Amino acid sequence: MKVIATIAELQQALMPLKQSGAKIALVPTMGALHQGHLSLIAEAQKQAEIVVCSIFVNPTQFTDPKDLEKYPRPLEHDIKMLTGAGCNFVFMPSVKEMYPNYPTPENWKIDLGPAEFVLEGEFRKGHYQGVTQIVYKLFDAVKPDVAFFGQKDFQQVLMIKNMVSELNLAVEIVTCPIIREADGLAMSSRNIHLNKADREHSLALSKALFFIEKNYASQPIDQLIEQAKAMINSVKGIELDYLTIANGDTLLPIEEKAGTGTVALIAAKVGETRLIDNVIIN
Ligand code: AMP
Repeated sequence: MKVIATIAELQQALMPLKQSGAKIALVPTMGALHQGHLSLIAEAQKQAEIVVCSIFVNPTQFTDPKDLEKYPRPLEHDIKMLTGAGCNFVFMPSVKEMYPNYPTPENWKIDLGPAEFVLEGEFRKGHYQGVTQIVYKLFDAVKPDVAFFGQKDFQQVLMIKNMVSELNLAVEIVTCPIIREADGLAMSSRNIHLNKADREHSLALSKALFFIEKNYASQPIDQLIEQAKAMINSVKGIELDYLTIANGDTLLPIEEKAGTGTVALIAAKVGETRLIDNVIIN
């Protein structure tokens, strides 16, 4: 596996491969890699000849400077994981490489549709402008045929698909399922911040979602929400940001049950750590 830090070097390395007709996949990450990330790499390897994984903790998508500062960056561990997985290239640029004038903000404002402003967009203002800004830059640097994202960040994939369609980008977006710990907790780089008590409390998130999934057919929506919220609120040390059963395209709460396109999404602070999770219902 080749470790690359600059766009010029990356493009030089990829050029002959592209010319030979190889299909290029990109897996964008912020590092602190776990099995969830590796599942994206594995899927990318099935669908493309060359897999580029990027590791970049993108400052423009963080709304809380403390969150940015404490984001884990175990680079050696990450390189070992990617080498073990048989990834071809890891692109680990500096902040200046991606944002030459940093910290002066660049102009980036794209219409992502009204779903930008709900759920995560409401709690993390400007987050999806930052996400799409860096993903656009990564697409521009790698020029992948296909890029892989996790359903774990459900709204993020929707925003990236909206960007691809808004800007007519020639890249296919593939969504991969959520990888969970054996007890149900969705894997996340942020789980490392959970202490023993938080780790136990964190299970309430997936339990509430699984409860909704299991009882969706038999109970009214408002009752499902009420009971799932009660499950969360009965756990000390969890502060719920939102729990919703929504239309997967608009992310607006559904009032009546639909046969397809429904997703339950949750975000909560467990101790000091903010976690998100979701389950596709149908
Ligand atoms: P991150 O490093 O958290 O920005 O995540 C990089 C990519 O991995 C994103 O597309 C995430 O949705 C995806 N991802 C994160 N956690 C998981 C998981 N538990 N299962 C599957 N994909 C994940």
